[in-house]
Amino acid sequence: MKQDRINGIRIGEELFDITLDAESGTIASLTLANGSSYEKSESAMDANGLMYLPTLKDWHLHLDKHFLGEPWKPLQPFLDLPDQLRFEKSLLHALPTTAAERARRLLNRLLEMGTTSIRTHVDVDPEIGLRHLEDVLQIREEFRGIFDIEVVAFPQQGLLRSNSLSVMREAMRSGADLIGGVDPAGLDREVDISLEAMFELSAEYDAGVDLHLHDPGHLGLYTIERFIDLTVASGKRGRTAVSHAYCLGQVGEAESLEIAHKLREADVAIITSVPIDSSMPRVDQLLQAGVRVGVGCDNILDAWSPFGNGDLLARGSRLAEKLRWRTNQELLLAYPLITAAPLRPRVGDRADFMLVDAMNPMHALSSAPKREAVFAGGKLVGGSWHQDGAIPLPRAQVGS
Ligand SMILES: [Zn+2]
Repeated sequence: MKQDRINGIRIGEELFDITLDAESGTIASLTLANGSSYEKSESAMDANGLMYLPTLKDWHLHLDKHFLGEPWKPLQPFLDLPDQLRFEKSLLHALPTTAAERARRLLNRLLEMGTTSIRTHVDVDPEIGLRHLEDVLQIREEFRGIFDIEVVAFPQQGLLRSNSLSVMREAMRSGADLIGGVDPAGLDREVDISLEAMFELSAEYDAGVDLHLHDPGHLGLYTIERFIDLTVASGKRGRTAVSHAYCLGQVGEAESLEIAHKLREADVAIITSVPIDSSMPRVDQLLQAGVRVGVGCDNILDAWSPFGNGDLLARGSRLAEKLRWRTNQELLLAYPLITAAPLRPRVGDRADFMLVDAMNPMHALSSAPKREAVFAGGKLVGGSWHQDGAIPLPRAQVGS
């Protein structure tokens, strides 16, 4: 059985030596480091006190629509949604690369920054059909074992507005995992009919639902209430989410609290990209009410925003800063929103972790340090060690 060893990883206050089982991709052993007792091994690496952090889960991004690696695209001012959608289509149409190439490019970038799990929304509509979706599904196979990828079939042009019901069905039959949707009021102009259509699709394919909701104020609030009702009525507790939900930060606190309780009862998650240019849900209030909250990078250098680089640890840092989290307890609140794994590993866990130069997890969250090494399924897949190709050997071995 092939095992790789990393010495001197800091977990809490102590240093540990870890062995990784290459076959199962798990942590095979975890022992307090004593500096001399390890067996000499050619594959041993030396973390030299770098700190352990689990790899990250990005709850919301778009693998098919970014311009990373493409020439700079000047954006236009946002006029209205239909105009923006036309603009995005024209930019995407002019790209020389396929969605598969772009997805691969972004996934590799994410690995460098310690993200190994994502939920990606992928555009489908009658015009582009399944082109983007099939590309992303193909790339998901390429990264299987390293990256955990959930695919949402996303009718970006509006489920009803663009007549996308039948292409959504094709998308689900092709292997998408969740039903997506966008602004039942703002785009489809039919809140109830649009939401009901999403939930009918979700029942047909026994799938979860994740709705992009930018519709503001009480319009958005009404939409979330109907979304909650449909979640309960269709037996989808724990399998649905509303992304963005700006409205929860636009209405009064008492109103958003009332919705928070309903969200918790129906186990509907709220996903935010932590916008700093618009209102966002009151994450403190949601967490206190027991609502599941996830963070995602969403737009990364695309037709919607020239900002973003896919660094989810930095996005968690932005969340904490925006919410004025300062104490240790508050800073630690951010981790469950950006990772599905605990801060301390156990033997038998999947070896999905990264090494960073930080004093503790609070410091890592507040400073978003460089990722020195990123392991997924026990393999080195990102960070400086991966880029440099120079895996540091244990000191005791050097010169021996
Ligand atoms: Zn999005």
